[in-house]
Amino acid sequence: RGGQAEREIPFAKPGSTTRVYAVASGKGGVGKSSVTVNLAAALARQGLKVGVVDADIYGFSVPRMMGVEQQPTQVDDMILPPVAHDVKVISVGMFVAGNQPVVWRGPMLHRALQQFLADVFWGDLDVLLLDLPPGTGDIAISVAQLIPGAEILVVTTPQQAAAEVAERAGSIAVQTHQRIVGVVENMSWLEQPDGSRLELFGSGGGQAVADSLSRIVGAPVPLLGQIPLDTRLREGGDEGTPVVLSSPESAAGTALNGIARGL
Ligand code: ADP
Repeated sequence: RGGQAEREIPFAKPGSTTRVYAVASGKGGVGKSSVTVNLAAALARQGLKVGVVDADIYGFSVPRMMGVEQQPTQVDDMILPPVAHDVKVISVGMFVAGNQPVVWRGPMLHRALQQFLADVFWGDLDVLLLDLPPGTGDIAISVAQLIPGAEILVVTTPQQAAAEVAERAGSIAVQTHQRIVGVVENMSWLEQPDGSRLELFGSGGGQAVADSLSRIVGAPVPLLGQIPLDTRLREGGDEGTPVVLSSPESAAGTALNGIARGL
């Protein structure tokens, strides 16, 4: 929108009824994108109008996990997002050539996020989920500046250096006055054929992060749920149909549907 005034972000307007969740994690590979796409698909299945912004510049995996093959289209000077499983999806991956990694600097990502929020035709959304890059840094501050009412959802594994993740996410939330909606623990256990649980990555990380966040922000931060390791979750992601839709009865599907109902 060269030279023109920036368009207003609809979700930042007073009285906006869209709940915005910024999904954050301390590091990559903990399942942040998997949680984002599954919550989006589960909420859409409940009948809510849902959008996802994939702002994970280092590993934009949302289009693949949602099975989005189309590119966004442009009408006048607005971008129409592709729709998959009743969810509107925009990804940084749709705007880079040939899936090449790009060196992004803070201001570029801030600008991209501003455009994704303001220049995409989202329509009336009940829920918007933002898949943030791993590490709670500048981007969390950008989100707070662009959408002051956005709430933070933290994804962690049982083994994570809980205090570290919590301290960083918590101090940013305090600084930006953002609400932390809760913590999701992923990869919590692997169910054995005899029904017992093998805790591959230890236990207690999610609760520990929630407890330290509660102390740091001075308000209760709940552990929203625990998601077991489940082959069907990975397969669903690889095949473009989130496990909450492809195998809702699976252990991971049940856990994720439960978390979505509690949001
Ligand atoms: P992040 O967004 O934090 O980098 P991803 O959601 O991309 O993490 O997950 C990393 C990999 O781990 C993906 O291949 C995903 O399918 C797999 N994965 C994530 N959570 C689970 C789980 N609970 N069970 C099995 N595989 C999982």
